Amino acid sequence: MLDHTYSCRDWLTRSPGWRRTRSLLLGLLALFTVTSPVALAQGEKPTGPLKVATRVVPPFVMEENGKLDGFSVELWEGICERLGIKCEFVMTSTVADLLAAVKSGKADVGIAAISITAGRNQEFDFSQPILESGLQIMVRDQGGGSGTSSGLLSLLFSPTLFQLLGLMLLLILVPAHIVWFIERRHKEGLCETEAYFPGIFKACWWAGATLATQADEMPRSPLGRVAALIWMFVGVLFVAYFTAAVTTSMTVRQLRGDIQGPRDLPGKQVATIKGSTSAAYLAGAKIRTLEFTRIDEAYNALLNERADAVVYDSPVLLYYAAREGKGKVRVVGNIFRRESYGIALPMSSPYRKPIDHALLSLQEDGTYQELYEKWFHAEE
Ligand code: GLU
Repeated sequence: MLDHTYSCRDWLTRSPGWRRTRSLLLGLLALFTVTSPVALAQGEKPTGPLKVATRVVPPFVMEENGKLDGFSVELWEGICERLGIKCEFVMTSTVADLLAAVKSGKADVGIAAISITAGRNQEFDFSQPILESGLQIMVRDQGGGSGTSSGLLSLLFSPTLFQLLGLMLLLILVPAHIVWFIERRHKEGLCETEAYFPGIFKACWWAGATLATQADEMPRSPLGRVAALIWMFVGVLFVAYFTAAVTTSMTVRQLRGDIQGPRDLPGKQVATIKGSTSAAYLAGAKIRTLEFTRIDEAYNALLNERADAVVYDSPVLLYYAAREGKGKVRVVGNIFRRESYGIALPMSSPYRKPIDHALLSLQEDGTYQELYEKWFHAEE
């Protein structure tokens, strides 16, 4: 009898009925795993909406008319949907405030442009990286390049040139009047006429031509010739001074604008964001910094010439340089410090694994790639 009946254990392992049921159950489980959200266990579900600390840092997070948008926002919305829970963003003003909110429990997670660092890793749990990038340098665009032509172009509109032109005008008018006064009564003199006009025009023409060492006529009276001789030497000195002033101005411009990488930063004034990894890098390298809360304040400092460069996260700089900063700023050199960006959670957070799972499945189904291309691709 016993031979034809299954004990409970035998039924579980040997009966053909069980094998069919088991395959069916396994099939259903596989289907469920692929299509369902990464559901949290009952005890892990938050009672209210999950609080997500963030901060405005385009293009990771942007705020327009009270609505949030950006790479991190859309990525988080994807994760949240997969977790099958409600989420609510909590705005903070700096990355330090954001992390403090996560640490103190005011927020359950933090997402923006948070770099994973050794120090932060001791205090927080981080998700899988959501992006690999790093720090880069942005400078003012000195007219599309740092060559001689752009240097000349910027010199054309510089105060130095206006000062030199003023001096030149003075150096024409003064000797022109002296020569006109001496020569006006001389019959075959330079001015040909006793009248102020057009005599003075002729004298001005002579003074200008002498300054450029191109004069074809000279005063006739002995006194006029002495004045002309003195003036010719003044002209030589002026041309030498003019050349020196232009050369110096162009060299200084080139030196000041010549930031190509972090090695060129010592001695420069650099704008960055308070509490960021860039600020830590600059402090470590003993570089003079201006620290701001919002990145647009750092951009303004660069445009107003209060800062010579901005050091910050490459995707943020590239995004600005390709849009509002187009033609005004330039991102120079390569990424000089690689950083991974992640979602910050308190230590041993029950959400880390489900978040990682959701993130990986967003990568596998192509959603991550779409978001990446939407927010970063144009700048690369
Ligand atoms: N990625 C930098 C950091 O984590 C800057 C982030 C920010 O300013 O929001 O320190």
